[in-house]
Amino acid sequence: MGRHRAKLAVALVVVGAVLGACVGSSTPDASGGTTTTAGGESGASPSTSRAISGIDAADGLGDPLYPDLGNAGYDVQHVDGSIRLDTSSGRLQGHAEIEAIALDNLDSWSVDLDVLFPSEVLVNGAAAKWTHEGGELRIDPDAVVQKGESFLMSIAYSGLTEPYDSPAATFMMGMQRSQDGFFALSEPDGTSSWMPANDHPSDKATYRLAISVPGPLVAAASGTLIDTVQGDDGFITYTFETRDPVAPYLLAFGVGGFKRVEEQSAAGVDIRNYFDVDIRESSLSIFDRQGEMIDFLAERFGPYPFEVYGAMVLETSEVAVALETQTLSTFGTQILGLGEEVVIHELAHQWFGDSVSLRRWNDIWLNEGFATYTQWLWIEETRGPEFRDVRIAQSYDLMSGRQFLNGTDSEPVAAAQAYRQFSPAGSPRADDIFNASVYLRGGLTLHALRLEVGDEDFFEIARTFQKQFAYGNADTADFVATVAAVTGRDLTDFLNAWLYDEAMPPIPSLGLSPLTG
Ligand SMILES: [Zn+2]
Repeated sequence: MGRHRAKLAVALVVVGAVLGACVGSSTPDASGGTTTTAGGESGASPSTSRAISGIDAADGLGDPLYPDLGNAGYDVQHVDGSIRLDTSSGRLQGHAEIEAIALDNLDSWSVDLDVLFPSEVLVNGAAAKWTHEGGELRIDPDAVVQKGESFLMSIAYSGLTEPYDSPAATFMMGMQRSQDGFFALSEPDGTSSWMPANDHPSDKATYRLAISVPGPLVAAASGTLIDTVQGDDGFITYTFETRDPVAPYLLAFGVGGFKRVEEQSAAGVDIRNYFDVDIRESSLSIFDRQGEMIDFLAERFGPYPFEVYGAMVLETSEVAVALETQTLSTFGTQILGLGEEVVIHELAHQWFGDSVSLRRWNDIWLNEGFATYTQWLWIEETRGPEFRDVRIAQSYDLMSGRQFLNGTDSEPVAAAQAYRQFSPAGSPRADDIFNASVYLRGGLTLHALRLEVGDEDFFEIARTFQKQFAYGNADTADFVATVAAVTGRDLTDFLNAWLYDEAMPPIPSLGLSPLTG
């Protein structure tokens, strides 16, 4: 995610009022489709008639920062989603066909779904009992789904889209209004506010999304546009398909007055941009070198990992944001002032974050450190190493607390202020995963590593890590192991000091040292 963001107006904080527990049955003859019973009934009645007993897979797959996200009972393979969005009212009607493989014998399991409400749930075509409470849709079919079995969940849902009050950040997530339409901002857990999901980066799947919007508005999403159908009712349905698996939070979703602009990088990577027609051409010039940037990064990190790339730029008025949505990064107009750096930042995430995704959210520095460091590589390429070093020194002084010496002449006071403000890059707090440290100290960690091992090994580490974990997941231990495999050196202590110590390690060759705390 781009790191310069304004907080959304408090007026948008409207989702907090909790939606009462909803309990339903999808049997066609159920009176009114839903019934209410004592809340929290999970359908775990003992099943003497069942040959195999299953477990009630617990809510959440155990992420250390966000234990409630996702479900460990199944692995989603493919999602076929249809979304019809009335942009005047904000009403969304959706249907998701989720193909998954059971990782245990399942009596019941949960799917993340917030803000919107389910109306029908089928498992393998048969009506299933379900409950919906606290952002968890618990599905309890009649038959146990056996371990290893591939099964299909069909979920119909609808409601008024609202931004989602994520525990992870001080700004609103999920579906946001732009000047002309809507867009999704889903890191880390906002996808479940617009479609049912196993909402954790460790469960990647391929997606087919059919998005219907009132013409002449245009819908854009991750992957390749495979079909456009004009309906009799004035709605146009745009269907997208991803070739490669996507973590739920990285699904691009946007509706706006877009023009689609296609080009190709010199090395042959297809680019299609969706630019809001009302944005001035001069503001969009920061995307002129996109093809060059793709080829620049491919030389350093390995081939561009996906079938296509592009930027979706929406006219926004409230939030300065960019997000590395897979194959189609999302940008609001307020962020464009940051120039080419924000363009290459989100592009770098396609390698680090999107192709190689996090196994747990604590390690978000792996995403943001690489993306931030890539900004500095672009400065090095376009302006020279001395400008890169100026940026590195500024970042170091911010992280170490030296900048706070303007307000105090006491080094311990300034250092303490930095420790309060910036968590160590490798251990952000659950309510602050976008702390500046995961970006800047993450980037500094990589530069310190480059200085320690030399350019050749450093870029070999990046390419090896990328190649080994492409289209999958990795954590900090995997990265440390890759460093050892490439260099033949155990740099665990070196990296641990950069990632987890309160005080900044020095970078002697640049004359950078921590304050005396
Ligand atoms: Zn980022």
